Amino acid sequence: MSWEIQGEKEEMTHAAITKAWNLLKGKEDAPNYRKASGSKNCGNCKVWDASATKDPETGYCKMYDFNCRADHVCDAWVGDE
Ligand code: SF4
Repeated sequence: MSWEIQGEKEEMTHAAITKAWNLLKGKEDAPNYRKASGSKNCGNCKVWDASATKDPETGYCKMYDFNCRADHVCDAWVGDE
């Protein structure tokens, strides 16, 4: 039935728009966010704000707009240039 196909199209379009909007707003998920195994971690990432949470083990990621753990890291880690 044509209305179902139309609905599916609209759903896909909505998902694409939401993804694009989230990218623009910096709210896409942190890429490959995981437990850190090397020297790079959220705790020493330049976009990490330790003062944003009461727990010293967590902080706010200003790039991806979420509270992350100091001992974790993602592929977008920002260090000194
Ligand atoms: S950009 Fe990645 S490594 Fe840096 S604080 Fe956010 S999640 Fe952690």
